[in-house]
Order: sequence, then C-alpha cells, then structure tokens
Amino acid sequence: MGGLIPESFIEQLLGRVDIVELIGHRVPLKRAGKEFQACCPFHGEKTPSFTVSPQKQFYHCFGCGAHGSAIGFMMNFEGLEFIDAVEELARHAGLSVPREAGSKPKPETSLFDVLAAANAWFRDQLPKHPQAVAYVKKRGLNAEIIEKYEIGFAPAGWDGLLKQLGGTKEKDQLLARAGLLSQGDKGSYDKFRNRVIFPIHDRRGRVIGFGGRAMQDETPKYLNSPETELFHKGRELYALHLARKSQARLDRILVVEGYMDVVALAQFGFENCVATLGTATTPDHAEIAFRAADEVVFCFDGDAAGRKAAWRALESTLPKLREGRQARFLFLPEGEDPDSLVRKQGAAAFGDMLANSSALSEYFFEHFTAMVDMNSIDGRARLIELARPLIQGIPEGVFRDMMQAQLETLARHRLSEPRKAPESNPVRMPRRDTLAPKSISPLRLALTHLVQSPSLARFVTDEQKLAECDFQGMDIYRELVDFCARHPNMTTAQLLESWRDHPAQPHLRVLATQALKGEAANQAREFQDALIALELDWTEALMVRIPDRVIDQSENERKLMHKLQQRKQALKQSRAE
Ligand SMILES: [Zn+2]
Repeated sequence: MGGLIPESFIEQLLGRVDIVELIGHRVPLKRAGKEFQACCPFHGEKTPSFTVSPQKQFYHCFGCGAHGSAIGFMMNFEGLEFIDAVEELARHAGLSVPREAGSKPKPETSLFDVLAAANAWFRDQLPKHPQAVAYVKKRGLNAEIIEKYEIGFAPAGWDGLLKQLGGTKEKDQLLARAGLLSQGDKGSYDKFRNRVIFPIHDRRGRVIGFGGRAMQDETPKYLNSPETELFHKGRELYALHLARKSQARLDRILVVEGYMDVVALAQFGFENCVATLGTATTPDHAEIAFRAADEVVFCFDGDAAGRKAAWRALESTLPKLREGRQARFLFLPEGEDPDSLVRKQGAAAFGDMLANSSALSEYFFEHFTAMVDMNSIDGRARLIELARPLIQGIPEGVFRDMMQAQLETLARHRLSEPRKAPESNPVRMPRRDTLAPKSISPLRLALTHLVQSPSLARFVTDEQKLAECDFQGMDIYRELVDFCARHPNMTTAQLLESWRDHPAQPHLRVLATQALKGEAANQAREFQDALIALELDWTEALMVRIPDRVIDQSENERKLMHKLQQRKQALKQSRAE
C-alpha cells in the first residue's frame, strides 16, 4: 500500500506536520520536561501515561503500548487507512499527495458525487411513497433514526434513478461504475427497485454503496451494491463512521449481521454498532473493528448458521489479537436477531446479555471440548491437534502463551476430574506494564539509540560496523547505521515511516518506545558505550571459538588470540574512561 505514495513525500509530510499540534487538537496535552503528557486516548486511565515527543515526532503510551507517528495517530485515533491518513494530513498541511507512475489512479470525485446524488434522491423518495413510510413505521424506526442513518427508498419501476441521474453516455457509465445499474437484454435498468435503502459510507463518511431491504417476500431479502472501485464488502463495516462519531475512542464495538440490527440498536441507545455486509467476517473486518475499539463483541443468532458464522469470525480475529485487544461473542436465543430482541425485551435486557457474553478464550475452548471426548486420551490428543494450529496463528505474546497453557491444562485433566472450569478462568490480555522488563543487550541498546536519534550514526566508525559479526540482528544494525548516516536529520517518526514495508520495522517501532535513562546530552556517550560493549561481546565470542590451551592452537589462532586479547584490553580501557 505504501508503495503507491512516494517515500520522499511521506518524509516531507512528516517534516511539515507537528505531532504535538495534531494531537493537541484532539487530546489536552500538558508539557512535562521535553515532552508532552495526557491521559491516554486509547485506554481508560486516570494518571497520564501517554507522552508525545516533539523531538522524535512520536507518541507513546506506557500504559497500553500504543505508539506511532502522526500518520499512525491518525490511523488509530480517527480509524483511517494508511492512504486516507496521509491524505488527511496532507490536506491539513496544504500539500497534495503525488502518486508514483503506474499506480492505480485515485477514483475521481465524480464517482463519489454520483453516489451522493443517488443517496439524496433515494432519501427524497421515502416520504413520497406511503407504502415505504408504512413499512419503516411498522419496523419501528423513528424520524430521528431515519435522518441519522439517511434511510431512503428506491421506488418500483425500472428507470427512476436512471432518468434522474443518467441520460448521456458518460452519466450512464458513471452510474454503472457506481454499481447502481443492472444490465438486461434491452439495456441498463435500476439495480435497486421497490426497496428500503440503507446507504453504506466509508470511514470518512462518503457514500460508497447501498443496501436494499425488500418490503415483502421478494428475494433476495437483502440486496447490496456489487463490488466496485469504491465498495469492497470484505473491507467495509456498515455504520462505522457513525459509531466512531458517537465517542472519540470507543471502549467497545459491537459487530452484528444486518443493517436493520444496527439501526434498531442505535434507536435503543447502542450507538457503537456496525454490521458486516452479507458476508462472513474477514480478517480485514476484524482489524478495522479493532482500530475503532480495543474490545470487539461479535453478536450472532444462536442457530446453526449463526454458530458457523461466529466460528468464522473467531478464525478471522485470532491473527489480529495483538496486546491490549479483546474479543467477545454473544449468542442470541434461537429465532431472535438483535432487532427483534431489543424491541421485545428492551435496552436493559440486551445490555445484560452483552455483559454476559463469552470471552473469546471461553468460546474457543468450549467449542473444541464439545467436539471431542474429553474423558478419553484419544479425545484429548485430538483436542490438541485441532486447537494448536489456531493458537499458533495468534501473534506472539502473552495472550498466545496463556492460550497454549490453557490448552495444555485441559489436555492433561479429564473433564470428570475437579479442575478450574475455563469459564471461571478466561484468558485475559494483560497490560503491557505488568510484564517484567528484559535485560538489554548492547546491540539492542545501540539500535534503540539509533532509532530514537538517527543523527548518532555519525559516531559509528567503519570498524564498528563489525562486518564479520554474525550476531542475530547485526544485518539490521548495519542497514540502520547506513540509513541513518544518509538521513541524519530524520526524526524517529520519519525513519519508521520510511521503513514501513521493511520486515524489521515492527521491531524498530518497539525500540522507538523504550525509555532511555540518560539525558539528551549524555546520549552520544551512552551510544558509544553500547558500541564498545557490542564489540567487546564480539571479541569475546571470537576468543571462545579458539581452543583454550595454547598447545591446541594453530599458529594463526595463536596470533589472532593475542590480537583479540589486546583489543579486549583496549576496549575495556576505553569503556572505563
Ligand atoms: Zn494507553
């Protein structure tokens, strides 16, 4: 994705935008030394652990681990995709985003315009058709919700929209590209006919497609826009732009199956609801939902189809469960959907059901233990066979370790034996700050300094690149030293965005958030000490590779050993100074 926009532009953009100003508009920042602080917008807290560094042009929360550049902040806080975040920042900075030759051109504004015009026309039609008004009334929708969700109506007939917005070859083509026409023997005709219309918006609130609900028994009951240049149903969640508007950062987002469910729940005060659009939950859906909230609750019917859809959602969610993210599952009584349930039983009852939804880990183990005979060794072996590949798909971290431990515990004990029931002991995602700090190797320390202050690369001599050294991570170190030497004035944020597609980037991002104990003035000294310690480690590693006893050494080894001992002495001395 990053390849579409030239790297030099990202660097230029981050040079223009001030992250303190950008975040300060959205979160009240207070100065604290050389940085700024606030209560974190990404997790609930009362004492500030969210910091913004003007030098690094980087933010970092010590509580939940959220961090990134101005682009990353826009992606996480506003829920934007990378390209949208870049465009939004560029607009703010008065820059226009160049595109690399050969990349797909941006869909022109006229496509958005024709979708907006169609939306306006559908909305206009609703009050003019008594049977449509009667239908939405029967479904219990009030005027406020119809207005907020921009619900409209596509009249019966074949060319209402075509007459309104078509007429010339260009206009008809635009309507077709927007997914609003169907093709028949005699030419094009309106795709949506005699249906209540729910517009589908992108995260920036622009109409990109429509869903149409039949009013009687016509099939299909739900008809969505086809895939177009703008509309990809595997990547869109209905009403996400409205859910995100209800609060700056949602604590929780509820994913349901249909737009009627979203609208009904909103009317009963649950404004944090989105829907997949007639498709199984994809990993993209899960990622997009997690960008909006740390906790995602999937809500499904309790019947066989609902269970199947829920399991698909779980499979799509597992690879997205990074630290700090939680998923839960709510199964409704058979024959109910959120729309029918909340109308019958009310908001309080639905709220209770939400509170009692299953943690992902509970649902995961319940699902598997129900499939096998837990009282037989074969059954428990089968459990491991089934569950292990899915657990291995979870990103490395504490949650995966705990799921693995839970699996081992279950496999070791018969169900009939007393044990802690998984439901009373759901695997929870621990906060990052509860993890024990690891001791820091000189290489890691050197990398950390470089990421945080790229200009330090000027201190690295050719000899200190340790061309022969085969320690893990040395190739990244050498690449980073060369990169920083070429770009000494980059901020941390610019460096990380330049490395966005590099396999080592996630590792460097973590290093960018590590606290360094020294003051800015001492950083050069600490960095040089790390280089010396690194070379010392390498020298010692080489010495270990030579036989201990002089009698076992070859002539060359003896010479090398002597050289290494001298070098070690010199390094120790330079460190002591
Ligand atoms: Zn936080």
